[in-house]
Amino acid sequence: MRRAVPRISRVMTGRVLVAAAIVALPGVVLALRGRPATPAWPLAVGVGLCVVVFGLATRAIIERAVDRALAEQERTLADANRKLRAQLDQLTFLNQLSQDLARNLDLEQTMQRLTERVIESLDVDELAVLLFDRQHRQVFLLAARGFEDDRVVKVPFEADRGITGAALRSRTSVYVPDLAADPREVVYRVDENPQGSLLSVPMVYQDQVVGVLNFSCAEIDAFDESARALCATIASQAALALANARLHLETLELTETDGLTGVLNRRGLDKRLALEWARAQRDGSPLSAIMIDIDHFKTYNDQQGHQLGDETLRKVSRLLAQKVRAVDAVARYGGEEFFIILPRATKADAVEIAKKLRRTVEGADFERGYLQPLGRITISCGVASSPDDADSLTGLVRSADEALYFAKADGRNRVQTLPVGR
Ligand code: GH3
Ligand code: MG
Ligand code: MG
Repeated sequence: MRRAVPRISRVMTGRVLVAAAIVALPGVVLALRGRPATPAWPLAVGVGLCVVVFGLATRAIIERAVDRALAEQERTLADANRKLRAQLDQLTFLNQLSQDLARNLDLEQTMQRLTERVIESLDVDELAVLLFDRQHRQVFLLAARGFEDDRVVKVPFEADRGITGAALRSRTSVYVPDLAADPREVVYRVDENPQGSLLSVPMVYQDQVVGVLNFSCAEIDAFDESARALCATIASQAALALANARLHLETLELTETDGLTGVLNRRGLDKRLALEWARAQRDGSPLSAIMIDIDHFKTYNDQQGHQLGDETLRKVSRLLAQKVRAVDAVARYGGEEFFIILPRATKADAVEIAKKLRRTVEGADFERGYLQPLGRITISCGVASSPDDADSLTGLVRSADEALYFAKADGRNRVQTLPVGR
């Protein structure tokens, strides 16, 4: 391109010289013929000189105009190049992000990865991922990155508070170019007077708001239109990942939960038992178990019907779950049998807990329970402990089962441990 200027110059200069030569030629001829008195020749030479001056001036003007046009074109090209590069960077970023988000199904890890990627690759100083708990109408911080000294609080807050609340309510992005000039709060931040700019983008999946992404920058008005569009794309990808992770979690929970009673099923129990056993061995702490069986349940089922039997199973499991500690786990072991894991509980502790459970069921009201052979719905409990009764996981379950057999043999509605020296 740049070569066009000298070529134009050369052509222009050549033409000017030819024109000047043609105009000045008669004067030069007259002068050579020795007729200097003829008034035409100085005139011709003068006009020739004018043509040269005019030509050179025109050349300079054209050169300058061409130069300007070329510089303008170069700027436009550089601009287009920059925009293309930025778009390519954004596409690469979004592509990598979507691969990342699809790979990982753990909710917290997924969102943590998202914050890392955004802070690494974009002009964003802080990113907070907030989840919306529709049932309790609360918002809680799931992941955060970029905040100085982790200056964020993880306490859930009401869904309508602050800038996040505004984004949740409106279901569209809320942009605050200057935080200092906005009266609304950034609820999860520790510092009371946040500075800079903040973009709050709701994550919407299948028409439902599942959370909010809050992008912030120390600079005022840091998010131009294209940055805001990019953040919106990130939020829709995050919403999809979030929905996937939640679905995975729910499926997992469903497969480890008993459909009738809502407590752990055998699969969930096995998993939890293995975990607690390993922990107890590592810490050298006791691990206890209670095997529970509803007494004469066949009679109840046969007389009152399967439906009422189911209702009784649900009620018994509810009572058990309510009475154990938060660290304990209740599972349905089979038909009308339950299993309770009691981490860090000694045999004596476990016996006390089992007695409490027995009393609770005996004292509860069950429809037509008075028709049972013992006059009520009751349970029998077998208690076993590690290290007292077992040195293996299967040994612990077997011992609890054997203890239950003794409780049944002793007349039911009682708590039994294995006889000493068995
Ligand atoms: P014991 O005191 O010796 O435990 O007597 P039992 O009648 O409770 O023992 P048995 O094992 O003979 O009967 C268990 C009954 O539990 C058989 C079945 O009718 C009932 N049962 C098992 N699973 C379910 C269930 O999911 N729903 C209902 N309604 N009943 C069930
Ligand atoms: Mg049974
Ligand atoms: Mg039974």
